[in-house]
Amino acid sequence: MAYFDDTQTAFKLKSNKDLKKAKLLFKLMGNPFLTKLGTYFFKIPFVTDIPFIKPIVRNTIYNQFVGGVTTDECLIVAKNLYRSGVRSIMDYSVEGQSTDEEFNHVKEEILKLIQIAKENPAEIPCVVFKPTGFGRIDIYEKAGNNLPMADHEMKSWENIRKRYQEVCQSAYDNGVPIMADAEDSWMQDAADQLMDEMMQKFNKERCIVWSTLQLYRHDRLSYLQEIYEKAKNENYLIGFKIVRGAYMEKEWDRAKEMGYRNPIQPNKEATDRDFNQAMEFMVEHIDRISLFAGTHNEYSSELLTRLMEEHNIQKDDHRIWFGQLYGMSDNISFILGEKGYNVAKYLPYGPIKKVMPYLVRRAQENTSVAGQTGRELSLIQKEINRRKSK
Ligand SMILES: Cc1cc2nc3c(=O)[nH]c(=O)nc-3n(C[C@H](O)[C@H](O)[C@H](O)COP(=O)(O)OP(=O)(O)OC[C@H]3O[C@@H](n4cnc5c(N)ncnc54)[C@H](O)[C@@H]3O)c2cc1C
Repeated sequence: MAYFDDTQTAFKLKSNKDLKKAKLLFKLMGNPFLTKLGTYFFKIPFVTDIPFIKPIVRNTIYNQFVGGVTTDECLIVAKNLYRSGVRSIMDYSVEGQSTDEEFNHVKEEILKLIQIAKENPAEIPCVVFKPTGFGRIDIYEKAGNNLPMADHEMKSWENIRKRYQEVCQSAYDNGVPIMADAEDSWMQDAADQLMDEMMQKFNKERCIVWSTLQLYRHDRLSYLQEIYEKAKNENYLIGFKIVRGAYMEKEWDRAKEMGYRNPIQPNKEATDRDFNQAMEFMVEHIDRISLFAGTHNEYSSELLTRLMEEHNIQKDDHRIWFGQLYGMSDNISFILGEKGYNVAKYLPYGPIKKVMPYLVRRAQENTSVAGQTGRELSLIQKEINRRKSK
């Protein structure tokens, strides 16, 4: 049996009814026409306020991919996952903030998550935040490219920096690792610089601050190698979640529209190659680099287990993590969890209306990523058949 084919373990928390619902959902999301229609529909403001829409969304896509409205609801899910050896990273998935008040609210939420993680260290290994939760994209873009800024923009940049500083300091004081997601390439330079500063400051003894690298960008493997040399020379530890990257179509369109070189790899094979090489590089330099492999790719996940074995790294070494999104690739999460590896699910939370952009992305990903829907469906079907034949 292939490494991740054991559907009994993969779906042990799912009832027959859950499986049937998941099957229907992935089938619907696999239909590009329906997903496109849904994407437009849910972009209409107030659509989720229509009385009969909310329960439909809640009982389908929301329950599949979201842990709950509040952190208390998420904690129940997290405790349940932990019984199967899978941890949770609560992800405040409310997007689209644009005012200082909203950015400060996100910062307060992250500070609250740090306390929850501190109180539940077994279930919640770290906290995560999105750079755009702390400030506007155009401010990051100007700061990253040294473009002239008006006084109020300088002030906004200072506020972003203060928010990073405050959450990283709190993470350090409470001994809770903190990780920044990666977003659009045109704002990423400034976010990377801030995260590097934070790593330099807080990662002297152990890796508290982690950043994210998107290997669908053709320049990220060399960036990883550069930052490693810098960290070695200046003597601090670095930690990276590595992902392939979620905003490919947006990156293609913007580069074409504005006439600059596309930052994305020429094809999927090049992305896969750099992702796997990044893992190899990080495992080879594990004394200085911590690795969180955020992926639903079975080959990459299995490759990491082999790399660990080759380098005599314990399965539960605190420097290596596997991660999947809640509602996806349970076969990878639960099988790795059962074998004793460090594995965590991103567990999004928030009210339906506010997490809609996240849900639309999940639906699009399950339509556009070649193979993902087919993979989920065939595993679900396999488990349904196995239970029927018992
Ligand atoms: C725990 C976790 C955290 C995540 N955090 C982030 C984050 O912070 N930022 C972020 O951007 N994404 C994030 N993602 C999403 C991630 O980037 C991928 O979109 C998603 O996981 C699919 O990639 P894969 O490795 O799982 O699987 P696969 O199905 O093997 O790969 C699909 C990916 O390959 C790449 N790809 C596909 N076609 C091409 C092509 N023609 N040319 C070049 N590349 C191609 C794309 O990145 C696509 O998403 C996260 C995912 C997980 C599981």
